[in-house]
Amino acid sequence: RNEPFLGCRFESTVAASDASDSPSEKFEYQAEVSRLMDLIVNSLYSNKEVFLRELIRQHSPLVDIINASDALDKLRFLGVTEPELLKDAVDLDIRIQTDKENGIITITDSGIGMTRQELVDCLGTIAQSGTAKFLKALKDSKDAGADSNLIGQFGVGFYSAFLVSERVEVSTKSPKSDKQYVWVGEANSSTYTIREETDPAKQLPRGTRLTLYLKRDDKGYAHPERVEKLVKNYSQFVSFPIYTWQEKG
Ligand code: ADP
Ligand code: MG
Repeated sequence: RNEPFLGCRFESTVAASDASDSPSEKFEYQAEVSRLMDLIVNSLYSNKEVFLRELIRQHSPLVDIINASDALDKLRFLGVTEPELLKDAVDLDIRIQTDKENGIITITDSGIGMTRQELVDCLGTIAQSGTAKFLKALKDSKDAGADSNLIGQFGVGFYSAFLVSERVEVSTKSPKSDKQYVWVGEANSSTYTIREETDPAKQLPRGTRLTLYLKRDDKGYAHPERVEKLVKNYSQFVSFPIYTWQEKG
């Protein structure tokens, strides 16, 4: 990514309100996000081969989902002027775990993470300029083939997770907050939830863990060889170590 600090990351000016610790709060996606999700999950699904080919030509659908490198860049960048952000002595790295039996991919970074407010601002609205451009271009097109081309051209960032996942969980811990939160979204739903994550076994020192529960027909993405190949390509553009491992079958 040539502009790692643009988009939602620097636009979020709303004060973080991490006081709330309600069990699980429900949110509506911004209308544009709903439209995008609907398109990803329903229209493009029948046309997935074309779609995947388009995305792979550039990189791979998974790469679009991985924001880990940006999150680490941002932490390193902000850490220069705000050293307290780096108070937890955790290595800056990316860990990708595959569980092919259950069709689960977990991507963990030790980057900047998100506060509760940032979760709402960033994963529920159209933050990404590429995604906004995509939606704009989409207005002028009516057929699914063209849609696939457009989506390949602009990318849809995080939301492309729903092309291959039926459920996505984002656990995240910002160094600015003493609480960890989990965002849960499902394909075919116009709402997502956020709750505080209190399970001690799931606590992150800092950063974000993305868990993709793959659709039945897409569990193949959790094959270690497939992920290894992806990482090999992706790591050329990333200045942090990426580790992969698999769940014992
Ligand atoms: P983009 O990366 O182009 O901004 P995305 O849809 O991929 O668009 O992500 C939207 C926003 O969600 C990001 O800008 C960032 O603020 C936030 N985000 C996503 N993943 C992470 C992560 N792993 N760590 C921190 N913030 C993240
Ligand atoms: Mg992104």
